[in-house]
Amino acid sequence: MIGGIRIGRIFGIPVYLHPTWFLVFLLVTWALTARLQSEHADWSGAAQLLAASLTSALFFVSILLHELGHSVLAIRHRVPVRSITLFIFGGVALMEREPESSGAEFQIAIAGPIVSAMLALGFSGLTRVAGGNSLLGSLAGWLAFINTGVALFNLLPGYPLDGGRVLRAFLWAQTGDRDRATRVAAGAGQWMAYAFIAFGALEVFHGDIGGLWIAFIGWFLLSAATATMRQAAVDASLSRLRARDLMSEDVPRIPAEISVARFARDLVMRGRRWALVEHEDVPVGLISLTDVRRVPAEAWETTAVGQIATPIEAVLTAPLDSPVRDLLRTMATRKVNQIPILEGGRILGAVTREALVQAIEMSAGVS
Ligand SMILES: [Zn+2]
Repeated sequence: MIGGIRIGRIFGIPVYLHPTWFLVFLLVTWALTARLQSEHADWSGAAQLLAASLTSALFFVSILLHELGHSVLAIRHRVPVRSITLFIFGGVALMEREPESSGAEFQIAIAGPIVSAMLALGFSGLTRVAGGNSLLGSLAGWLAFINTGVALFNLLPGYPLDGGRVLRAFLWAQTGDRDRATRVAAGAGQWMAYAFIAFGALEVFHGDIGGLWIAFIGWFLLSAATATMRQAAVDASLSRLRARDLMSEDVPRIPAEISVARFARDLVMRGRRWALVEHEDVPVGLISLTDVRRVPAEAWETTAVGQIATPIEAVLTAPLDSPVRDLLRTMATRKVNQIPILEGGRILGAVTREALVQAIEMSAGVS
């Protein structure tokens, strides 16, 4: 769910409007205008439209604040937030990784509904002050109602809704097994989604076209819950794998003295992307395609691989029994494509990005 029009940055997080969001804005403004026409028939059409679109904008701000609630707590728990996107079904704050503890997961999940509940209280206070029959009171009343709805809907206990995340945090804390907790919460999310679809279909059957919308939300929740379920299964099987299971002992080695041009011919032509650089049979560095690309082509013949290789002390290595999950994270965050496996001061082999991708595909049942 990335993309759309970037409208700004809050707390360093880029905020996007997805094209589908404009549909919601139009629908809400249209519904509110219709409501104002019956309640304030004496108002001019322009005033009704202006008040309705202003309220729509405040609805949008409410959703944004809900997502910011999640984001602020995420940042506090050192989980980077990549973006906030508002789209047809509300908002989504995209986090870079999972929180490290069930306590953090709970706080990040509950922060959104708490913000919505506080907004509901604020707006209903405003209605009381302004009087329910005044324009301000009526629109604040609508915003109080919608924010209550947002808080309650999100607290439904099925992943990916906030309530599902709370459920997951609770099960995770009880059992200590995060993957199992995810599968149970996503399973609850699937059942809930089926209920939405069935209820929506029933409404349509009884002649209420609004049921289509409920079924549509159900379909969206179902695909998200199912994707999470699949991801949890992959995570669980990956968590059993160690570096030794995916390591290839076939490590390409080249002398430090040979030219970059020869490395490019000998190794890249054979479909290899990296090699261990050795001096008198002792590893002194690691060279990859990335290093080669940094050298201008005309200097390839006169540059030795030893000059441009990453020095051995700076090369990221891992022991034989390191969890594959950690290797995956290292490759993603440090942008490397292979990790040599170092044991007892010797390089025994390497785990490559291709081997990891293959393992993920196999556990996801793709290939
Ligand atoms: Zn939320």
